[in-house]
Amino acid sequence: MRIVPLILLGVVILIGVGLSGRLQVSEPVGIEPDNLAKPSIIVIRVDDIQDYAFRDAQLWLLRYSRVNKIPLSLAIIPELVVSDKELIASIYDALREGAEVSAHGWSHEDFYKLLLEEQVQRLIQARSSLRSVFGVNVTVFVPPMFKYNNDTFAAMRKVGYDTLSSSIDLQKPEHRFDEVVCLPATVEYSDFVNGTWRIKSVDELLLEVDLSVESYGYAVIVLHPQEFMNGSEINDDVLRNYTSLVNIVGRKYSFTTLGELSKTIK
Ligand SMILES: [Zn+2]
Repeated sequence: MRIVPLILLGVVILIGVGLSGRLQVSEPVGIEPDNLAKPSIIVIRVDDIQDYAFRDAQLWLLRYSRVNKIPLSLAIIPELVVSDKELIASIYDALREGAEVSAHGWSHEDFYKLLLEEQVQRLIQARSSLRSVFGVNVTVFVPPMFKYNNDTFAAMRKVGYDTLSSSIDLQKPEHRFDEVVCLPATVEYSDFVNGTWRIKSVDELLLEVDLSVESYGYAVIVLHPQEFMNGSEINDDVLRNYTSLVNIVGRKYSFTTLGELSKTIK
């Protein structure tokens, strides 16, 4: 009769050890606080923010940025951020620390395929939904799958967006079109090959950040919460890679958002 409770106790202890091990690895690591002399030219853009998906990764990224005062640019899928209270509360907390909300389409649709009027409608829907959930007026548009067309600029102007962030592969940096500033992602955190994410090494990423700063005067690093997951578990190796990247980059530069960077370019 006493065996079952003992086994249960053992299981509880094992889970406890597992969790505390995980928490030690996942706890945010402090960044040196001397931001004054460092150029504020590095943006971390997190795409595909949505209710309940890749949840541990989304919440971890938000918590890490809040604790370490790294203002993330959060590319939110507005149709899919409505009911996950913990996620929404974490985004609110991040906003108070300087994070930014941007529209990642309305429902992660392909804007390249949409007519001007359809794009206008989706951008209006995105803006009003983000305003009602977060009380902010978004000005930054992050086209899903990096795709957009010439009508996108006219649609953005009509609705009141002033900054577009796609990818350097598809968009010239600092290019203005119809008064819209383009700030493409210049560094991708991983390569997506044959349906899986390959996270780049810290050295590879640091090199790309430096090259981007040299070439364009800033770096926009794009990442996805999916990249931090290994099936349904958060991937501790990726957390270590990310914290180490952020710590090293943070010694040289300070972090900003797309909206803030856009103001310096206008
Ligand atoms: Zn996306």
